[in-house]
Amino acid sequence: MRVSTRTSGQRIELGLRLDLEDDLDGAGQQGMPIELVTDSATIQFEMKVGEPHPDLVALAVLAIVAPWCRRRLTIDRGISPEFARTAFESLGIQIGPIDETLPSRPPGQRLGLMYSGGPDCMAAQVLLDMPMPLFHFRRVGHPRVPNRATGLKGDVQEAIVRQVQSSGEELHVARSNLEYLCKPFPTFPHWVALTVGAVVLAGHLDLGGVVTGRNISGIYLGWGRGFTPGGEQESQWEALFAAVGLRLIHPLAGASDILSKRISRGHPHYDLARSCVAGTLEGPCLRCKKCLITELMSAAAQGAALTDEVVASLTSNHQLVRSFDHPPPYPNQHLLAYSLARIPNIGSTFLATAKETLAPTVDNTAWMDRYYRPALSQRLSPEIAARVASRLEDHHAHYMSSMDESIVNRWSATD
Ligand SMILES: [Zn+2]
Repeated sequence: MRVSTRTSGQRIELGLRLDLEDDLDGAGQQGMPIELVTDSATIQFEMKVGEPHPDLVALAVLAIVAPWCRRRLTIDRGISPEFARTAFESLGIQIGPIDETLPSRPPGQRLGLMYSGGPDCMAAQVLLDMPMPLFHFRRVGHPRVPNRATGLKGDVQEAIVRQVQSSGEELHVARSNLEYLCKPFPTFPHWVALTVGAVVLAGHLDLGGVVTGRNISGIYLGWGRGFTPGGEQESQWEALFAAVGLRLIHPLAGASDILSKRISRGHPHYDLARSCVAGTLEGPCLRCKKCLITELMSAAAQGAALTDEVVASLTSNHQLVRSFDHPPPYPNQHLLAYSLARIPNIGSTFLATAKETLAPTVDNTAWMDRYYRPALSQRLSPEIAARVASRLEDHHAHYMSSMDESIVNRWSATD
């Protein structure tokens, strides 16, 4: 693939051209088939982009186009020999041209946090407990591809995140239509594409690491589908980030959404936490998959039934209701099981079949209240692991027992 990366002012414009060996069909996150549907994308920043280190631009491009790039990636700036070697070793992609005289980018001093406005990124901030610039990815429209998901409200998400900024947090918003490259829409080529804002600005902002709110669900459990030993096979991206002086840091690698949500309550802006991307400024939509899980987790935490209003609103989304008509697997099945075991009277709602077939108990789902200790050594550096361990203690979060760990290690949504 050939990619042009024109920078002008606060903007980068990407133009994609396939090579003979490339294909419109690629594999996205968790191997999901994704199709390339257009040949351009833009990323708009709030500061002048200038001329970032070419390896940073190359990493941002790779994060976006890797699923469709078979063997070669040619960009319009010379990259360091070290980055080219890492890209080949990690992804099998020959990237060039190589500027033999270009040194690699040295690591910076600060960590930057990917900030969607949801409870996970707040929990990550609580666990690291250090000043970090926040990076928000704002989805915007594409001039040539229709918006097939008009329910997504990027403007509302941004407005909520701006409220956090107004309390003095350093916030950088990258506005991009890169999601429109893929079908089905909305899908990111890979979750690392969400980090392009931090990657491109890493030199300007002296970044030495990118922190995410990814938790045990994405890292060890394939979003509830099944366990991956040692955590997700992400070493290829870790090596690529390291080659540009950035560490990828997931402080919640051992925490479920249940524990993460509890930790996020220690965040000064917890009242602004929002997972739903389809609501209004006044509140979440109460009809989407994310709202379902959020409402279930809240009710479970209180041991309370879902309110009639919430049940009626969720039930009005027939597609959502239909996804629970059948036996497992269900999306985020572990969180569903946790909630169904704790919410009274759930058998009278559209979740009755799920409750009957999963038959979860409080005991066999309690592992989600605790941190999966192997994540500290497997997924975090010793320094970050020590920091996270100490903050877990401050927040009275416990580690999983060996019994809990064996549930995680055998987790499968289809058994
Ligand atoms: Zn919603």
